[in-house]
Amino acid sequence: MALPVVAIVGRPNVGKSTLFNRIINQRLAIVEDLPGVTRDRNYAPAEWMGHKFDLIDTGGITWEDGKIEEEIRAQAEIAIDEADVIVFLTSVDNHVTDLDERIAKLLYRTKKPVILAVNKADNPEQRQDIYDFYSLGFGDPIPISGSHGTGIGDLLDEINAHLPKDADQVDDDTIAFSVIGRPNVGKSSIVNKLLGEDRVIVANQEGTTRDAIDTPFISKAGDKFRLIDTAGIRRRGKVYEKTEKYSVMRAQGAIERSDVVLLVLDASTGIREQDKHVAGYAHEAGRGIIIVVNKWDLPKKDSQSAKDFERVIRQEFQYLDYAPILFVSAKTGQRLDQIPELVKRVYKNLTQRIQSSVLNDLLIEASKLVPTPMVRGKRLRVYYMTQVKSNPPTFVVFVNDPELMHFSYQRFLTNQLRQNFDFEGTPIKIIARKRK
Ligand code: GDP
Ligand code: GDP
Repeated sequence: MALPVVAIVGRPNVGKSTLFNRIINQRLAIVEDLPGVTRDRNYAPAEWMGHKFDLIDTGGITWEDGKIEEEIRAQAEIAIDEADVIVFLTSVDNHVTDLDERIAKLLYRTKKPVILAVNKADNPEQRQDIYDFYSLGFGDPIPISGSHGTGIGDLLDEINAHLPKDADQVDDDTIAFSVIGRPNVGKSSIVNKLLGEDRVIVANQEGTTRDAIDTPFISKAGDKFRLIDTAGIRRRGKVYEKTEKYSVMRAQGAIERSDVVLLVLDASTGIREQDKHVAGYAHEAGRGIIIVVNKWDLPKKDSQSAKDFERVIRQEFQYLDYAPILFVSAKTGQRLDQIPELVKRVYKNLTQRIQSSVLNDLLIEASKLVPTPMVRGKRLRVYYMTQVKSNPPTFVVFVNDPELMHFSYQRFLTNQLRQNFDFEGTPIKIIARKRK
């Protein structure tokens, strides 16, 4: 599932976020409204002509008290560290500025492909007026207009031409998972312990243009995993590493490329707002989720403490009611050995397929338990249910009128599915369609 990464870099106001939104636009379809989940995206999957990649708007990662110099330096570093292809965005309205030149200098240090795009070229005259930009030293500038949508196709063609050729390869029986969470909860400690104990590194991805940031390994039980790198594990010590936006962005990137996500919480500090942002992204992305409470060696415990902590988790993360909770200590190693097995089980649940005949028996039983709802004198009729997709499991229910399929009935069907099959750790999507 590892997708190549494309980063947009440029000084403020050249139109980075406009371009970002334009490129990911088609993908912003179904997003649920969850309390406590920020809509503010700097990282999103994108696709052009069948080629998929992840897009980063480095401009979205800002400093609270940042000076502009530091900000552009950090943005260029993030692009150089993270991306396979860099889009250097400038704007025709100010011609080449001092800041453009400074960004260019930072980008000279990378061997990665840099595509120069000149934004706000809204009309034919402006599209001609781009010759200055050759002086930046990145070859032919591509004139675009983020707000009108012109030139975007040419830019995307150029991006596709530079994407790594091996990017589409997927090893099917390898389970990709990541360890996410805010800084200091113990992600790297967990990863190091996991890899320290199961240290059978399969290949180091030589011959690819990407940094070997994901670690394939085989567990003691003989299952193949790929651990996706996340914030704070490889980039230790970089100035941008501890900023919240950056760690959320890294988490988003890791989530996109994972089948299963371990959300790490810190038993010694309890749950914070930032934990919820990260959790919300994992849930929205439809990944399998396991909640890992780390540093379980720290709190004073009696027989109630795990139950108490679990109650708080269920309350704070109501939409993650399907996620199993594991109490571990990276320090003592307590229960870490259960992680590969649990990841495997969640993956199995995530990818299972249920026959339509079985689903329709379930519908009949369900209708005996609870009558379908009446809305404004009209009763919902449910005719047929079928699984259209796995990972995450997605079901289409054919009904007389999708408007009548309220959240509560959807919830009831979801619970019926969970009671009859093992969907622990996986979100379930139900889509109502009108029977033709
Ligand atoms: P960022 O700071 O680089 O992310 O820039 P934004 O995407 O926020 O855009 C800065 C301003 O430029 C906004 O007022 C946009 O509406 C405007 N803008 C973005 N793209 C274009 C474009 O193609 N043409 C014109 N005329 N304005 C644009
Ligand atoms: P990350 O930023 O999420 O990768 O967190 P680290 O793995 O760097 O851990 C942050 C701090 O917590 C370090 O000082 C670790 O030694 C400590 N730590 C990590 N796991 C545990 C644990 O299970 N118990 C205790 N007591 N400390 C831990």
